[in-house]
Amino acid sequence: MAYDSGNIFAKILRGEIPSVKVYEDEHALAFMDVMPQADGHTLVIPKENAETIFDLSPEGAAHLIQLTQKIARAVKAGMAAEGITLMQFNGAAAGQTVPHIHFHILPRWEGVALRRHGGGMENADKLKGFADRIQAALG
Ligand code: AMP
Repeated sequence: MAYDSGNIFAKILRGEIPSVKVYEDEHALAFMDVMPQADGHTLVIPKENAETIFDLSPEGAAHLIQLTQKIARAVKAGMAAEGITLMQFNGAAAGQTVPHIHFHILPRWEGVALRRHGGGMENADKLKGFADRIQAALG
């Protein structure tokens, strides 16, 4: 299917709508999920126009997973998480709601269940506080 440049992550990449950024380079962006399933829930997206993993170039895929590893390490340290769950959905049938490929980085703690996917909006100041902790861990 043709890439829909009107999707919300494309708008974030173009700076048309705000996001709480954690990291940005020429290939990719990491920012806080506004409806987090866990405190510190972070998204990593490529700047390449790709809806799913199948649409991404091999170079884009390589950079995306390397950056996801780097950000996940900082999320784990900054959030003092005991573990990290990575999630990545391809297609509506698989649970993808935004048609621009992204990795979810979810900090985990023993006994703390994930909140509902697409649940409530988080307070912006709280998201900024988590982003600051993750950025500090990135160095
Ligand atoms: P998925 O269902 O894997 O496509 O996940 C899309 C994710 O994007 C969900 O976890 C949403 O909470 C999140 N989301 C939607 N709109 C925004 C936004 N404007 N800024 C940050 N995260 C968003």
